Amino acid sequence: MKEIFLRPHHSLCIQFFIGKGYSEEFVRGMDRIIILLKSRKADIILTDRCDDICRFCPNRTENECCSEKKVQLIDKACLYEYGLAPGDRLTWSELEELAKEKIISCGKLKAVCRDCQWYDICSVLSSRKA
Ligand code: SF4
Ligand code: SF4
Repeated sequence: MKEIFLRPHHSLCIQFFIGKGYSEEFVRGMDRIIILLKSRKADIILTDRCDDICRFCPNRTENECCSEKKVQLIDKACLYEYGLAPGDRLTWSELEELAKEKIISCGKLKAVCRDCQWYDICSVLSSRKA
């Protein structure tokens, strides 16, 4: 079984991904990770550092996001809502269900995502999923 390292907040971003992102390479990388996760051929290991999606992102420097402090707050909010911790292993189905149940469906996306630049797009899409 393959392992995908994932920052907790990417459990939300994946669900609202519509092919937009920071660069063409980022979008292609995101597509590949999503296909792999949905194929059920990979387990997720939660991480509080740059993950397998950040690898393709132009905002990554060394092992940090250029907005690391802001991103860590979003990650921590997700972990709190999910009752999980960095290092926990689970399937995409399990994580997707937690994201829907604990954040999206109960209207907590705004509080969790705080001032993410993509929030306006995600909030519209979340109202369709809730
Ligand atoms: S480096 Fe930062 S902006 Fe890029 S995907 Fe990772 S957390 Fe998101
Ligand atoms: S608002 Fe930002 S952090 Fe939240 S799901 Fe959308 S892209 Fe991800």
